[in-house]
Amino acid sequence: NPATVSNRRVLLKLSGEAFGGGAVGVDVSVVQRIALEIQAAVQDGVQVAIVVGGGNFFRGAELSQAGIERSRGDYMGMLGTVMNCLALQDFLEQAGQATRVQTAITMGQVAEPYIPLKAIRHLEKGRVVIFGAGAGLPYFSTDTVSIQRALEIHCSEVLMGKNGVDGIYTADPRKDPQAQMFTQLSYNRALVDNLAVMDASALSMARDNAMPIRVFGLEGAGNVTRTLKGEKLGTVVCA
Ligand code: UDP
Repeated sequence: NPATVSNRRVLLKLSGEAFGGGAVGVDVSVVQRIALEIQAAVQDGVQVAIVVGGGNFFRGAELSQAGIERSRGDYMGMLGTVMNCLALQDFLEQAGQATRVQTAITMGQVAEPYIPLKAIRHLEKGRVVIFGAGAGLPYFSTDTVSIQRALEIHCSEVLMGKNGVDGIYTADPRKDPQAQMFTQLSYNRALVDNLAVMDASALSMARDNAMPIRVFGLEGAGNVTRTLKGEKLGTVVCA
C-alpha cells in the first residue's frame, strides 16, 4: 500500500475490448500492463476506483441480434465483466497492490457486494476498488455505471480508457484523415453531434450532475498512469 494517500480520487473506466486485445477472452499481457500502470499511480497516492466493461465476452445487444432474449443476454454481459475484474485483480495483487472487487450482482465466494461506504473506506486505505457486474441491471451499460459509481463514491472525474482512439474527434479518425481531436468538449455538443464515444445515458447523467469525463487512449505506454495522476491526455467532456 502507498505510504501516503492523497485526496485525488478518480474513477477509471476500462473497456472490455481492451482486455480482450481484440479477441474473445483475456489478453493477459494487456491486463498485466494496465495493472502495473494503475499500481504506479496508487503508489503516488491516487485513489483509484475502476469500472470494467465486458465487451470482450458478451454484449447483450449483440446476443439479442443472435436470438437470445435481451435481458438474459445483458446478464451474460454483466457476468463477463466479473471475469475481467478478477483478471485485473490478480495482476494487481501479484504486484503487491491490495485490491477489492465489488459486484452489483451478489456472488459472495468471488467478490464483495457493492457497498459504497465500504468502497470509500478501501480507497482511503490505498486499496484499488474494482466494480464488476455493471449496475446489475439489464439495459444499462458499464459507461453509465462508471458515471453513477463516480458520483456515489465522490470521485472528481471519470477517466475513460479507450482502445483504438486517443480522444474525441470531429469525425472518426480511422475513416477521415481531416478529423481533429478536441481537447475540451461540452456535454451538449457531444450529445447533439452524437460524437459516439459513449452512450447517451452516460453523457446525460454526467451532464446533469456535472461530472467531468476524460476520454483517453489506453495504448500508449504510461498513458494510464499519467492520466490517473492528473495529466490532461485526450479530451475532457465538461460543461
Ligand atoms: N450490462 C448490463 N448492465 C450493466 C452493465 C453491463 O446489462 O449495468 C451488459 C450489457 O449487455 C453490455 C455488457 O454487459 O453490453 C458488457 O458491458 P459493456 O458493453 O458496457 O462493456 P464495454 O463496451 O465497456 O466492454
